[in-house]
Amino acid sequence: MRVLSVASEIYPLVKTGGLADVAGALPGALAAEGVEARTLIPGYPAVLAALDSHEPVMPLDLFGWPGHLLAARAGQLDLFVIESPSLYGRAGNIYSGPDGWDWPDNAFRFAALGRVAAQIGAGEAAGFPPDIVHVHDWQAALAPAYLHYAFDGRRPGTVLTIHNLAFQGQFPPTLVGPLGFPSDAYAMDGLEYYGSLGFLKAGLRFADRITTVSPGYAREIAAPGGGMGFDGLLRTRAADLSGILNGLDISVWNPATDPRLAAAFDASRLPLRGINKQAVQRQFGLPEDAGALLFGVVTRLTWQKGMDLLHQVLGALPKGSQLALLGAGEPALEKAFTAASAARHTQIGVRLGYDETLAHRMQGGCDALLVPSRFEPCGLTQLCALRYGAIPVVARVGGLADTVIDANPVALAAGVATGVQFAADDITALQEALGQTARLFRDRQAWSAMQRNGMAADVGWKAPAAEYAKLYREIAA
Ligand code: ADP
Repeated sequence: MRVLSVASEIYPLVKTGGLADVAGALPGALAAEGVEARTLIPGYPAVLAALDSHEPVMPLDLFGWPGHLLAARAGQLDLFVIESPSLYGRAGNIYSGPDGWDWPDNAFRFAALGRVAAQIGAGEAAGFPPDIVHVHDWQAALAPAYLHYAFDGRRPGTVLTIHNLAFQGQFPPTLVGPLGFPSDAYAMDGLEYYGSLGFLKAGLRFADRITTVSPGYAREIAAPGGGMGFDGLLRTRAADLSGILNGLDISVWNPATDPRLAAAFDASRLPLRGINKQAVQRQFGLPEDAGALLFGVVTRLTWQKGMDLLHQVLGALPKGSQLALLGAGEPALEKAFTAASAARHTQIGVRLGYDETLAHRMQGGCDALLVPSRFEPCGLTQLCALRYGAIPVVARVGGLADTVIDANPVALAAGVATGVQFAADDITALQEALGQTARLFRDRQAWSAMQRNGMAADVGWKAPAAEYAKLYREIAA
């Protein structure tokens, strides 16, 4: 079984969010299932710089821009890379320019990704005719549409995975022709989406199977009003839609070997977390108080993540608790949290930016990890928290609800709780959850039992990879 995975980012080469983690870890896990997976990725400068070896496969015509398909290796990753300096050779963010706006030619940059995926899918890359083309998110979602409209003959099975339905890839309909589609493709039954050319729409329409990254989110997006404009289409495809939880790369996220921690530990050496806690408190300029309940937040600072809700309850943090927040995102939220930290620097520490090392250290040192998202397709930070003995305190949505066992009385009595859940988008519920967490924290025995339950939870890629392999076999058959 040969699979071409297609993604716009891949850990550790280039990452803006959870998609990169999935794209980076799934191929390795699939190998254990007898699946040979290669990933097609745009040749951004960071990708080209990270290649250990590469060789040309074929020249590419990318809507008039020249390019080359490279077969490459970077660390453990087997890659196809689209080398095209005109489309990808620019510094900065992979999606947006220095002004913060999307690159104006994003339609071409990511249509090229889908188009080359379709070429490989059709068997044009010698030596790697895939059985399955597995595309991730809108950036890759045109591949099944290109296979439908622009290629005869060999047709691999296709899977589209939605990592976040909020990002849909909508562009002017005038691009239908320039992107190489026949004009009749612009129809409700084709690429049209509320008056735009919809990349994700195309994938949802033409992929053989649609998956999303948790069973809970799969239910939510197909429910009336829950699909951000797509719930109708998703309901017509209900038989082909399923949820497969993301895993964590447990070799990267392993508290027993993690070089980024101040002190490595495992479930039998939980007191060592105290060294990490102290390091986090110091890094955030908080009093180094071992007894204070330290809440951590590692996140994009956005509406989706409920960061405005969190900001509103900062005045009601439980007495004696501290908050360390690492995040980057919406300027208004960055400003608001910076101001809160300046006003209450002994209780609230804020670091703006993206810092992988600090993220690891926070998971290993914070007592609890807060995830108050309004919606959450899967969420990775709560999985990291489980593995690192930080108690996840999460909104009851999507993958958060699927992965954290709430400390309700029954779960506590049965000794299976791993975290705290609360109703999403509800300030009162969030406040109560903070209070409940503080009460649980005072019960040292219950707390460490929850930590050990979480650390024993299976959050790796083995089970999800087996589910993907099963899905591939079904379509290939
Ligand atoms: P999303 O993909 O929606 O941003 P996820 O929880 O699925 O959210 O994945 C986020 C990933 O990015 C996690 O691996 C998390 O540790 C990491 N992350 C998010 N924000 C930061 C940050 N400011 N610094 C370091 N890592 C971050």
